[in-house]
Amino acid sequence: MKKDGKKTKSIPTNVEENYSMDSRLINGKNITNKWDYSHHVTAPISSSTTFRLDSVNRGAQGFMQFAHTKEFKHTDPIYIYDRLGEPNKDILEENLAYVEKGETAVSFSSGMGAISAVLGVLTKSGDEIITHRTLYGCTISLFNNWYPRYNIGIVPVDLTDPKTIKQVVTEKTRVIYFETPANPNLDLIDLKEISSIVKEINKNRNEDQKIVTIVDNTFATPFCQRPLEFGIDFVVHSLTKGIGGFGTDMGGVVIGPEKYRDILLLYRKDFGAVLNTKSAWAILTYGLPTVALRQRRQVETAQKVAEFLEKQPKVKFVNYPGLKSNKNQKIAKKQMRDFDGNFAPGSMIYFALKGDDPRRIGAKFMDWIADNAYTMTLAVSLGHTRTLIEHPASMTHSVVPPENLEKRGLDLGGVRLAVGLESAEDIIKDLKLALKNI
Ligand SMILES: *Cc1c(COP(=O)(O)O)cnc(C)c1O
Repeated sequence: MKKDGKKTKSIPTNVEENYSMDSRLINGKNITNKWDYSHHVTAPISSSTTFRLDSVNRGAQGFMQFAHTKEFKHTDPIYIYDRLGEPNKDILEENLAYVEKGETAVSFSSGMGAISAVLGVLTKSGDEIITHRTLYGCTISLFNNWYPRYNIGIVPVDLTDPKTIKQVVTEKTRVIYFETPANPNLDLIDLKEISSIVKEINKNRNEDQKIVTIVDNTFATPFCQRPLEFGIDFVVHSLTKGIGGFGTDMGGVVIGPEKYRDILLLYRKDFGAVLNTKSAWAILTYGLPTVALRQRRQVETAQKVAEFLEKQPKVKFVNYPGLKSNKNQKIAKKQMRDFDGNFAPGSMIYFALKGDDPRRIGAKFMDWIADNAYTMTLAVSLGHTRTLIEHPASMTHSVVPPENLEKRGLDLGGVRLAVGLESAEDIIKDLKLALKNI
């Protein structure tokens, strides 16, 4: 809030045309009415859970303004209580919406907080959600363990063939939900194709029956892919991963049309999965300004590592959108592009080793790395400074029983490699040793 009504700094109005996203990520949206910190170079941390309200009148005004985005768009915010909104989260949200090219962003305490919130506001008892068959393990768990009690149907299908939607869609379908590249097998789904099929179906539906598309863009980060540009309605992220980038803070975000901002804020207020202010500050200060720098390096390294793995006789297959051998590379080339339009196939690799007992051989390989590799750490998560390796079938995706792995597009011995910031040559050196020792 500006005491003297002055702008924090006068900046050119045509920043978007004249400056690259690289520079804009670092300098941010630059002008915000969320906080007056014109003499700070870095935004200060706000860690107040409650805010002084001056008068009962101002308090009443604050409660009136809450979740009335359109009506009070040009009014300075009146902060009341952290769970309703506070400066660090608000500034982070402005910048997250900006980088994903969305109208609005609402932050949550974790990726799962964001996913359950966007689905929470878009569905009710009796509705159905069509999903891709391969999803992050906890999202599968959310659907399998909790949605039956809300009487919300989940229809997992193979969305790598988007026409499947036409076969399974019903009057009850409200949401199409997927990840591309999918966690962990890196299935690629055509964003444009999905959104045009859904728009076609929606033509004949009333407003309250229209189907909404949601993409979990965590694997790609906005650096590599911006699904809203392809007609997708909502993007969700785990900020814990590539956007946060340092493995120090959990967070999540929903980015989408502004008309949903108020209901998302209301949901967050009442269900309570609020992003911690200190985490919002860390993601705003460290994560977001460095996402382009980190991702560019990680993509370059992942390409080299994937090409190396593909040539190894002990390797059964490698899934990486940057490989020519990838049967869906056409889709990746269409939709995985950095801010300057360069092909940006991400930092995640999924592969498996040859052998009669895939689980044993995969585990042996990863155990060797856990004990001996300097550049790789056996750990879940991704988009970290360090390269992380894990076994989805026994870790992130252990919610899927062994007999269903294949149905979910997973391999018993599949290895997920999340490339960090080390040198490609060093990672390859350690992989070479690991392969020699199995
Ligand atoms: C990690 C992850 C999530 C969940 O995020 P949290 O911040 O751990 O709650 C969701 N989707 C994908 C693709 C993920 O990798």
